[in-house]
Amino acid sequence: MDKIKILDKEFRVSLSSSTIQQAVARVASQINADFSGEEVLFISILNGSFMFTADLLKQINLPARISFVKVSSYAGAATSGNVKELIGLNEDISGKNVVIIEDIIDTGITIENIVKQLKAKNPAKLKVASLLFKPEAYLKEMKIDYVGLEIPNLFIVGYGLDYDGYGRNFEDIYVVD
Ligand code: 5GP
Ligand code: MG
Repeated sequence: MDKIKILDKEFRVSLSSSTIQQAVARVASQINADFSGEEVLFISILNGSFMFTADLLKQINLPARISFVKVSSYAGAATSGNVKELIGLNEDISGKNVVIIEDIIDTGITIENIVKQLKAKNPAKLKVASLLFKPEAYLKEMKIDYVGLEIPNLFIVGYGLDYDGYGRNFEDIYVVD
């Protein structure tokens, strides 16, 4: 499908499934090389990264485990703004090699928050793999270790990414038309 409609918006194909799969393969081979001879605990950030996580993990040839977490926001009683909490991390990550799997990094606020929380648990190595990265939108200094594809600052859906909950099921990635 070249064009799709979700709710009120029309989208057109931006990244084909084969382009995405090539990017996934590049990220997997970088991780396989960097952690050669070591073990890795992958931490996948739901919901958006479920497809990337599944395709990436199939190409990882290291001793690997996977844990799925969610970032939840709640209004802090005594703080301004929202405090984001990592939910579902049951593993002890201290002394372990950890690779965070994200779907997309935009301003970087979400990933910086996740990295801070995980660093506090003293992993041996902590790396970030994001399928997509919007350099024009990024506000942070932290370098992203593994990036599948850099994309312009436009709203996209598909391959795990949603518009109001819809569109995660497409194998291609679409941009708003
Ligand atoms: P950040 O905190 O880096 O600004 O935003 C990261 C989160 O915003 C992602 O995990 C994703 O949920 C959402 N996001 C950012 N850009 C897009 C986009 O183009 N499409 C969709 N569907 N979600 C996005
Ligand atoms: Mg996300």
